[in-house]
Amino acid sequence: MNEEHVLLLRYSEIHLKGKNRGFFERALLENLRRAVSDFPSVTVRRSHSRYLAEGYDPADEEALSDRLRKVFGLHSLSPAIVVESDLEMISETAVGLAKRRGSFRVNVNRADKTFPMTSIELATELGGRILDAYPELSVDLHRPAFKICVDLREDGRTYLFRDVLPCAGGMPVGTAGKGLLMLSGGIDSPVAGYMMAKRGLKLKAVHFFSPPYTSEFARQKAEDLAARIAPYVGATEVFFVPFARIQEAIHTHCNETFMVIIMRRIMMRICNRLCAEHGLGAVVTGESLGQVASQTLESMTVTNAIAEVPVLRPLVGFDKEEIIDVARKIDTFEISIRPYDDCCTVFLPDNPQIHPKLEKVLREEARLDLDALIEDALSRTESKTVCAER
Ligand code: ATP
Ligand code: MG
Repeated sequence: MNEEHVLLLRYSEIHLKGKNRGFFERALLENLRRAVSDFPSVTVRRSHSRYLAEGYDPADEEALSDRLRKVFGLHSLSPAIVVESDLEMISETAVGLAKRRGSFRVNVNRADKTFPMTSIELATELGGRILDAYPELSVDLHRPAFKICVDLREDGRTYLFRDVLPCAGGMPVGTAGKGLLMLSGGIDSPVAGYMMAKRGLKLKAVHFFSPPYTSEFARQKAEDLAARIAPYVGATEVFFVPFARIQEAIHTHCNETFMVIIMRRIMMRICNRLCAEHGLGAVVTGESLGQVASQTLESMTVTNAIAEVPVLRPLVGFDKEEIIDVARKIDTFEISIRPYDDCCTVFLPDNPQIHPKLEKVLREEARLDLDALIEDALSRTESKTVCAER
């Protein structure tokens, strides 16, 4: 029998309504194609308000479906079998899809009005044949344990599927603008990036690192995290900004209790520069209100005061446990807990300002040649585009 395996990809309709529909659909299609671009024979195309991934070896079906399930904007997918719209072929395939236990129903959608049976007749016929093959099954129209879905298209092809696998949801990455993720080696920032990408934000990332105080492994950790979230957020350009000279200058010239807040404001100034240079409209951080001393309202206010774009903090109302749940789900947790020092742990004072006042921070900052420090750090910044591990 001539049968073909395809993946049926469904997007949620809600945000695809209205005049932006074409824009969302094109972005999603492009992201889907990119996600499977290393399977050269696979094509993804739109068909009847859903997408089809076709042309693959059935042995790759699970790997492909795992990939596509992580593309934001898809609601669900179904591995399906396509046959000619012929009763014998449809029946044989339907019987093959049936589980061996439990109750079932058959759903038929007949777009092909030339097919000689009505939907109900075909559903009844297929139900009967499945019961003949597996008499221990039973039909339950209301709460079946599984459904056999049969979709007869106008082109004389019939799609049959059983399973509906949930996908990542959200909006296609790139449909809500571009932002700069402040990516540390910690648990929170990769989760924050994942969450904003889910709302359609395309990301570049910046990582501040402090050799010789921190090891090469700290930088590698940030890179590995970017690779781990890439199946969701896409390949990401990461800027690695050397930060040790800035920290030394703060340490030498400023009251040490202001170390953290001044560091954060200098990071933000560097983010401003990167945003301006690369056309990015927001900074994303993994901050959560009250989680540590630098994440108080006052600290956020003093950091925001220097920001030239909105600072998005998708985790602001999350508990650590909730953040860890997401980190486990997206598989970043194991990397985040590798025991390498982050640049923020260098020169950390015992008693940081928890409720910093802007005037005092400005007075301390005035002791630094900020422009020179920032120019120097940017001139030594390297960037690397990090792709998903494959
Ligand atoms: P994380 O788990 O994301 O490291 P954290 O709980 O350790 O967060 P902080 O160290 O206060 O909290 O950092 C708050 C946010 O600032 C981080 O979520 C991240 O967005 C940003 N950030 C901190 N350190 C760095 C760094 N070295 N490079 C880039 N961004 C950083
Ligand atoms: Mg951290």
